[in-house]
Amino acid sequence: MKESDMIDHRRLGRELELFVSDPLAGAGLPIWLPAGAAARHAVEEYVRDLERRSGYRHVYSPPLGKRELFELSGHLGYFEADMFPPMRLSADDEFVLRPALCPHHALVFRARGRSYRELPLRIAELGGMYRAERSGVLGGLSRVRAISLNDAHNFCALDQVGDEVREILRLIGEAHAALGVRPAGFRLSLRGPGEKYVGDDAQWARAEELLRAALDGVDFVAAPGEAAFYGPKIDIQVVDAAGRESTISTVQLDFDKPERFDLSYTAADGSRQRPVMVHRSLVGSMERLFAYLIEVHEGAFPVWYAPVQLVLLPVDDGQAEAAQALARRALDAGLRVEVDHAGSLGARVRDASRRRVPYAGVIGAREAAAGAVALRLRDGRSLPPMPASEVLALFDRLVATHSAALLP
Ligand SMILES: [Zn+2]
Repeated sequence: MKESDMIDHRRLGRELELFVSDPLAGAGLPIWLPAGAAARHAVEEYVRDLERRSGYRHVYSPPLGKRELFELSGHLGYFEADMFPPMRLSADDEFVLRPALCPHHALVFRARGRSYRELPLRIAELGGMYRAERSGVLGGLSRVRAISLNDAHNFCALDQVGDEVREILRLIGEAHAALGVRPAGFRLSLRGPGEKYVGDDAQWARAEELLRAALDGVDFVAAPGEAAFYGPKIDIQVVDAAGRESTISTVQLDFDKPERFDLSYTAADGSRQRPVMVHRSLVGSMERLFAYLIEVHEGAFPVWYAPVQLVLLPVDDGQAEAAQALARRALDAGLRVEVDHAGSLGARVRDASRRRVPYAGVIGAREAAAGAVALRLRDGRSLPPMPASEVLALFDRLVATHSAALLP
């Protein structure tokens, strides 16, 4: 087997029971199993908190909407080939599965009058959207038809765009460091021949100039033909185990949707001004992100988003109660913990390491009597027995700092 097959996220996803693709559910519509869902939940919470601390306001909006909404946004005119066909409820009532969250977030902006004092207004959502990908290109989590996107739309005054984009790039760097994402490069995606685009040349030139300025000091390549239909973007690329490149994070400038939705705010001088819409994703879709993370970590996630962080192994039945009591304390402290009684101690240690559980906690008669645990790390190291309270404090530190290392 080639190395790329050994660390294919589809194979690891099956072995580690992270997700399943069932033909009965449909191609490109994977189901997240409990272990994969636990890891994803931890990542979602982390991203939501990072955004909250950075001034983002989170919303919920439905994954489908009236046909007219997507006619107004331009998606049905410029992006229809990538969308599922509309669903007709009655002659004048058609719905589409949304291919993007922007139209709903434009409606959030215009839900009431806006003042310059509210800008930049950062509207964020981890939301569902759909793309009618051809069945031939689908595989595991990397190309799917149901997408859960870490998305936000930052509505700014024109003179705020530069700082806003630079701050977004900084947040992307912070999220990548915590998750263990190693970017392969930055790409400035521009218009190219043979594609459909909205907006006039002056808008495109202005947007491109702003993005180039934000990339000052960053190595990037220009990619004609890779822009969104409404504007140029900065894409941050990763390379998977098989050498395929894909976009994981993106920052896009859009002058068009604010016009289509007639968005405006009251400026300091009382005049009505059009905001600029910055579309951005810090970590991309949960599907593509995990396709990448599973491969880059070979299933051995950092402690803070490992599906099970600690598996407790009582040496024999005499320590079952002590193990249960510690598991209860660890659960209450927010840890993902299991107790494994089945089989020989050696087999249980091997099973924990096969499942990439970062820590196994062995409890023998001596440890049980002392209220202690002997920790064995996923990488083969082991620690002398330590009191339960110290074990919990260790996890607390690893999780709070989003440490990539197994020991602080
Ligand atoms: Zn958008």
